[in-house]
Parts: sequence; C-alpha cells; structure tokens
Amino acid sequence: AAPAAPDWLARLNPPQREAVETTEGPVLMLAGAGTGKTAALTARLAWLVGSRRAWPSEILCVTFTNKAAREMRERVGHLIGAAVEGMPWLGTFHAIAAKMLRRHAELVGLQSNYTIIDTDDQLRLLKQLIVAEGIDEKRWPARQLAGLIDRWKNRGFNPGDLDAVENELYANGRGQHFYRLYQDRLKALNACDFGDLLLHMLNVLRGHREVLEHYRTRFKYIMVDEYQDTNQVQYLWLRLLAQEHKNICVVGDDDQSIYSWRGAEVANILKFEKDFPGARVIRLEQNYRSTPQILAAASGLIGENSQRLGKTLWTELNHGDKVRVIGVWDGPEEARRIGDEIERLEREGAYLNQIAILVRAQFQTRELEDRFIQIGLNYKIVGGFRFYERAEIRDALAYLRLLAQPSDDLAFERIYNTPKRGLGDKALERLHRHARGQGVPLLRAALELCDTDELPARARNTLLALVRDFARWRESADSLAPAELVRTVLDESGYTAMLQAERSAEAAGRLENLSELARAMEDYETLGDFLEHVSLVMDNDAADDAEKVTIMTIHAAKGLEFDQVFLPGWEEGVFPSQRALDEGGLASLEEERRLAYVAITRARRRCTILHAANRRIYGQWTSSIPSRFIAEIPPDHVDSETTLSGGASLWRAQWSERDDPFAHVTRDRPDRTQQRGPGWQRAAAGTYDPTPRRVAESTRSAASFAAKPRLDLAVGDRVFHEKFGSGTIAAQEGNKLEIDFDAAGRKRVIDSFVRRVD
Ligand code: ATP
Ligand code: MG
Repeated sequence: AAPAAPDWLARLNPPQREAVETTEGPVLMLAGAGTGKTAALTARLAWLVGSRRAWPSEILCVTFTNKAAREMRERVGHLIGAAVEGMPWLGTFHAIAAKMLRRHAELVGLQSNYTIIDTDDQLRLLKQLIVAEGIDEKRWPARQLAGLIDRWKNRGFNPGDLDAVENELYANGRGQHFYRLYQDRLKALNACDFGDLLLHMLNVLRGHREVLEHYRTRFKYIMVDEYQDTNQVQYLWLRLLAQEHKNICVVGDDDQSIYSWRGAEVANILKFEKDFPGARVIRLEQNYRSTPQILAAASGLIGENSQRLGKTLWTELNHGDKVRVIGVWDGPEEARRIGDEIERLEREGAYLNQIAILVRAQFQTRELEDRFIQIGLNYKIVGGFRFYERAEIRDALAYLRLLAQPSDDLAFERIYNTPKRGLGDKALERLHRHARGQGVPLLRAALELCDTDELPARARNTLLALVRDFARWRESADSLAPAELVRTVLDESGYTAMLQAERSAEAAGRLENLSELARAMEDYETLGDFLEHVSLVMDNDAADDAEKVTIMTIHAAKGLEFDQVFLPGWEEGVFPSQRALDEGGLASLEEERRLAYVAITRARRRCTILHAANRRIYGQWTSSIPSRFIAEIPPDHVDSETTLSGGASLWRAQWSERDDPFAHVTRDRPDRTQQRGPGWQRAAAGTYDPTPRRVAESTRSAASFAAKPRLDLAVGDRVFHEKFGSGTIAAQEGNKLEIDFDAAGRKRVIDSFVRRVD
C-alpha cells in the first residue's frame, strides 16, 4: 500500500494536490492571484525529493526572483524535515544559465571565468563602438542600441538571425553590424551581458548535441513559476530541455503578465497545451490570500480587460474592509498620510514587515523616503536603492574584477587612474593601441609598455607599480578571505586614503559603504563566488531582519503578499503611466491594468489607494486627475475619502494662468483634459476652496528636503532629536543622518531635526 501522505500534503486542496501528485507528463497550473500556485509548486518539489522520485540535482526549478528561490529552498527543507543539501538547479533563469555557462563557456568562445557586465559597462562599451564607427551618438544613442540588442537576445536572435526590418532599426540598416561588433568585443573581453547568459546557453544547447543530451537526461523534472512572464529565449530553452522526459510543470496567471516590455510573451502560457500535447490543465479557484472585498475589487478591475482567459475566484476568508481610496492635495501630503496611517497601524500592533507601499515608478519613492526619515519610520527599498551601483562600490568592484579576471578591460579603465595617479587619456590611448596591436588585455599591455620607452618615465613607473600591485594581490587572493582581500586592495591602492583625505561628510559615507561591502563579502568563500553574486543580485534586502516597511515597485512585488498594502499615485500619467497613454494602444493599457491587478492582489487584509491633485514629476508640478483604474473598481467595494473639497480642474479653472504658479507645466499637457473618466467626475463632484497658502506650503516642504548636509555636524557628535532624545551620529550622508539613540536605537533622520549638544 502507498505510504500515508504527509500532513503538509493533506492540507492542500484537491486541485493543488493533483498538481503535486501528477508528477509524470506535462502539467499546466493556470490560476488567479493568491490561489496557492507557488505553494503547490513548492510542495511538488518537496514531494519529488521526499518520495525519492528524483535527486535534488535532477530537478530544474525556475523562480522569477532570487528571493523567491531562497524562500522555496527554505520551505522545501522545512516540509521534508531535512535541509535539502544542494538544490543546484533551483533559481532564476539567469542564475541557472550563468551556472551552466561556466561549464560550457569555451563552446561559445569564452573562458569559464568570464565576467557578467552590467548595464553601465554595456553602455560604455556600445558608446565606444559607436564613436569608433563614426556614427553620431546623439542621433543614434547607445541606450537605444542597448535596448535593441536586449530585445534581440530576449527573442533568441544571434546577429545572423536579424531580418531586414530589425536591421533597419538602428543607424540606417546597421543594427546587425553593431550587434556583431558588440558581441565580438564582449568575447575579446571574456565577458557577457545579462541577455547573453540565456542566448549563449541556447546556442550551446542547439549546437552541441552531447550537451543537450546531458541536460535533457539529467533533468527528470522541470518546473517553472510565473510562466506567463517567460520570454522567447527562455521558452526555447525549456522546450529543448523538456523533450526527453516531458515532465514539465508550469504555473502562471495570464492576468499577471506584466513584463512584455522586457520581451515576455503571454502567448507562451496560452499555447502550452499545443506545445506539450496531452498536458494536464489544473485550475485553482480558491484564493487563500485576500478578503472578499479585495478580491472583488481586483476581479472587477481586471474584468475590464478584453484579452484574457477569465477565471473565477472565491475565498472563505472573512468579509474584511472595502478598498480605501484617498484623495490628497499633493505628493508630500500623500507621503504624510501614508506615514500617519502606518504609525497608527504600528500602535495597533501591526508588524512593519507586513506593510508594503507599492509604486508604479521609481521616482515615487523619494517623497516617501524623505517623510519616513523625518518621522523615524524604518523602511527598506527593495530593488530600487542599489547599493552596488554607487560609485565607490563600483570602483572597489572594478579592482576585484580585474583581480579575478586580468582581461577585464572595462574594470581596468575604471580604476587605472582612480585614485589619481597622474595617468591621463594619452597614456590610456597608448595602452589601447598596444593592446589592440598585440591582441592582449590592457593590464598586460601596461606591463609590456613598461619595457619600452613609449611612455614618459613617470607614467611608466606608475603603471609598473600598478601592475605589480595586482600581481601581489593576486598572490594573496588564495590565502586571504575575500573580505580581507578587499580591505587590503583598498588600502594599498590608495583608495581609502583618497577618501580619508577628502574629509567631507560625503566621503565619510563612502568609506562607510566600503566597510559595508567588506561586511557583505564575509559571507563568501571565494572572490569568484562573491562577484557572481553581485552580478546576479537584483534585490538587496537579504540578511536584514529588522522590522521595516517595504517600498518597492509593483513589478518587483509580483508573487509576494502583505497584510497591508498602500498604492500611491493612482493618477492618469503616473498610473497608467504617461508612456502607456502616449502609446495609446489597447495592449499597453491592458498591461497597465494587469499591473493594477497585481498591485491590489498583493494585499491580504487591507488595500489603500491614494491619488493626489498635484504632483511633482521630475521637478515639474502638474495637476493630475485620478486614474481611470479607480473608477473601474466596482463601487460596492470601495470607500472613498478626500482631504480636498474639490478637484484639480476646479482649481485650475478658478486660477487665471497669470496667478497659477504651475501654469507653465499644465499647459504643455493639453491632452490631459481629454482623459476624464468616470473616476475623475466622481472626484471633481465637490466644491473647492483655492487657498494659496497650501500651494506655498507644499512647495516649501518639497524644497526643504534638498540634500544639503549641515557642516556643523560630523560623525561622533552628540545630538538631540525631539522624538528620539539624545544620541550619537553614526553616519552622515547628504542631509540624512544615522544616529545611535541612547534609548531608541539606530534611526535615520533628517539633519534639520536635530541640534548639537556639546
Ligand atoms: P500569485 O499569483 O500572487 O503568485 P499564488 O497563486 O502563487 O499567488 P501563493 O503565494 O502560493 O499563491 O499562496 C497565497 C497564500 O495562500 C499564501 O499565504 C499561502 O501560504 C496560502 N495557501 C496556499 N495554499 C493553501 C492551502 N491549501 N491552504 C491554506 N493556505 C494556502
Ligand atoms: Mg505565486
């Protein structure tokens, strides 16, 4: 007789259980948000391993983020009651591809220690190529070329695969030429970009039968979460790998396809049954995440989309609160309001970890941050605040990359004169010429040039010292832990001394960041491991377990859930984005609506939507009208309130343009008035009292957040803060201070809110 099912399996509902136990053959789990798709997939992974159907190393399991992979790994370990030693093929497509490519790099002309370059390096490289080819970079920006190359890679196109139409898209028919140049240059650098990870591996699988056979046989089971957001190259990959055993289980929701701008094709999930004949299709309808009110609001909204499969969702949870819609005067008020609400929730016993603010665009986070710092509310920005993109961190990483990979010319260029060593462009030009002539990397060229008299003696000595430094560091790389290594390199290169000599608050912050980098490296055994990690991290929230409110984009929140969700900026032009409106097509608007659906369905208990009548976007004030999506939520499930007694249009009507401080910005957007939907009419149905004072106030509050550091404060000073009492400054960055308060612990605050105590 079959052994009794473990508890965790018994707790699943029948269709979930079917998805877990149908281990053989293709399976498609197609279901709405919060129905337990990811939970079922995790259980399936545990079931396969726990029942010994496969070793962990025989399962390929793809998640959408690194964080999701981490969580799944932990969860599986928890379910089967043992730490699963090694789940080598559980991760994002990129992480998995990077790992495979290390083994087969030589098949695409790379060495196994290739570097993964980031978008900055990518742009620099493209710029060089464009200039070298005599093309006007202003007319044909590198960014545009980068976008095209990305798109081609997402579709699985090599340079030779481009048709005339694609080729025409850059520099009058030179798209293919530049794509090819770029790929050649990357190869010469022993580097690849993000898109290459998948494309190279696709080429390997297509071109090398024995490699394909190896993986096909190895992966007895393949599973993919968020399948609706796979792109063409990922799809081709999976099809190749699943052909042998055909045990592929994909999970997704067509209503949550939100990455078409990155090449994702919702068609992949719609044609799964055709690609894998005989696929078992499992639908889940019970939602375990959200209250009926939230669910009804989200379902009503997404019902406005025409291009969808449509599905039913129900829940057994208690009724819950209606979705709240709050109209406010402007961005700063919106931030104040959210801050107040969160402080109230906190007093009522809510956990900050269970509260999220999901924004449509990065720029929305700044006002929130400023407010939270001001009131001392702990927050973290996931995916936006990129530690590894700060200049000093990138410098340090360049040293490390060059250490790990002497042919990393981009890294060499970044640091050869940082800190200043008196090496100018001339010397670099000379190095480049030699490197090209001899077919060697720049670091090598530096060494070789030191044996000639082509450079002035001073430059020669400096270069020689640099080359020797690297040789010495490389020797110690084996014996020193990565964290020690980076400290040594920064000290001996003079980088630390350079910052110390600056004596500015900013430099102190930079030094602090560098110590943070060394701390981060303590978790890694080898430099290579760490560098690989850096190129793959998309979220920087690991290893931080303090209670914090999460601020992130809706895109990044996919698959996550929070008790309380705040959704600011639901205004035409912000959400739906101006770009979607300008494109004007149904497809882009429907994608925005799916994004709105994803946003609302992240909420477990309460969802609060906000819109402001005035908004500063990239430094310009505009008056806004509420998002059409607000009007599309069935009114029965909405509680509206507004702190205004009117709306933006009345405000505009009652002010002559001469008096209107924002006239110049509202005028260049004449199309806005045509976008009035029912939601707009609803919000405008009131009377309005245009009090000029409020305008002045909001302008001032925005201006007062300009990041000017106070010169009378320094790290180590004792200060007093009205809310938190006395403390010692631990770090200073612009106008933001980190203070160790005697009673309240470490907080980030704005410097204008403290005074020095001597
Ligand atoms: P999304 O579409 O947003 O990715 P999902 O379908 O992947 O959602 P999950 O995140 O797996 O949904 O599950 C949503 C919530 O429901 C989680 O908190 C999960 O623990 C819970 N859940 C899932 N299945 C069950 C079940 N059978 N019984 C009780 N709770 C469940
Ligand atoms: Mg999920």
